[in-house]
Amino acid sequence: MTKNYIEWKSNYSNNFVSMNKLEQLDVDIKTVEQVIQKYPMKLNSYYLNLIKKKNDPIWKQCIPDLKELTDTRGDTDPLKEDQYSPVQGLVHRYPDRVLLLVSNKCAMYCRFCTRKRNVGKKYTSISEGNFKKAIKYIESHKEIRDVIISGGDPLLLDDARLENYIKNVRKINHVEIIRIDSRIPCTFPQRITLDLCNMLKKYPPIYFLTHFNHPREVTEEAKNACEMLVESGVVMGNQSVLLKGVNDDSKTLMKLNHELLKCRVRPYYLYIPDAVCGTAHFCVSIEKALKIMEEMFGFTSGLAVPRLIIDLVDGGGKIPLCPNSIVERVDNKYIFKNFEGKKFTYNEN
Ligand SMILES: *Cc1c(COP(=O)(O)O)cnc(C)c1O
Ligand code: SF4
Repeated sequence: MTKNYIEWKSNYSNNFVSMNKLEQLDVDIKTVEQVIQKYPMKLNSYYLNLIKKKNDPIWKQCIPDLKELTDTRGDTDPLKEDQYSPVQGLVHRYPDRVLLLVSNKCAMYCRFCTRKRNVGKKYTSISEGNFKKAIKYIESHKEIRDVIISGGDPLLLDDARLENYIKNVRKINHVEIIRIDSRIPCTFPQRITLDLCNMLKKYPPIYFLTHFNHPREVTEEAKNACEMLVESGVVMGNQSVLLKGVNDDSKTLMKLNHELLKCRVRPYYLYIPDAVCGTAHFCVSIEKALKIMEEMFGFTSGLAVPRLIIDLVDGGGKIPLCPNSIVERVDNKYIFKNFEGKKFTYNEN
């Protein structure tokens, strides 16, 4: 075992936050104890130290809230991922790409998580048998050209195990790209080691989609982790969730996206929160979300504007949402509204 490995492992294991520490922060321990019976908590000192005051955007993402228990709405699996799973651990919902769910562990349990039904519950990672079945399935479906390694967080596996998964997927000729979905650069950047980067370097092209929601999460450590990944040749993208009281205003989102672009992470998707039981207090309306998009388009670099996505209930899939810029259409004449609200006519031949 290398020094790198021992360091991230011991850092990971020694930094969980105790109830004592939470009490000092004025967290209501009784509430926490009640909530975590249903939805577990995991929190490390690195992320906890980003909190500046009670109920701030960092707090809301990681401290259990009584509202999680009073949410009467919602399904535990609105995306019907379990229904689109031909092999345990594999989700095949779209024609040319699959999700490979390798473990249900994360460095932190985000209170708004879509996979709240799984994460933090009894630990499961994909068994060797199921992994083999998943590989067979991908091999026999020539249309699959994009394999997304996700979880939980795949980076909580050690390098050797992760490499074994990547290597076996890479061997399949028709798989063109591999994606890794991980919130680790944001919640536990110490995990991004040189060993890991040197391993990833061997299997291009890899797209690495991470998950930052607030500019205060883009710390020196996080920036460094992203830079190291970029240096290893992966292409970095970010998926945020639009969360009430966390980042539901254009100013915060633009600041976040500018910080990410500075460390070569390109904003990819901005999700309307899924209708998952226990997360209603994070909901942002579609109307508000579209307004936020309008306040960004044209006002900042296109690179800093992610695509707004709603993932429909009952497994309808992802739908891109865009503010409507066509005000009127008469035959081949269109009237557009530009980002400043001015109207322009366009005649199509
Ligand atoms: C989101 C998702 C994908 C990836 O979708 P992209 O739009 O290509 O990023 C693939 N499979 C499932 C089941 C998903 O939920
Ligand atoms: S890191 Fe991702 S999968 Fe894990 S709890 Fe947070 S949002 Fe859910």
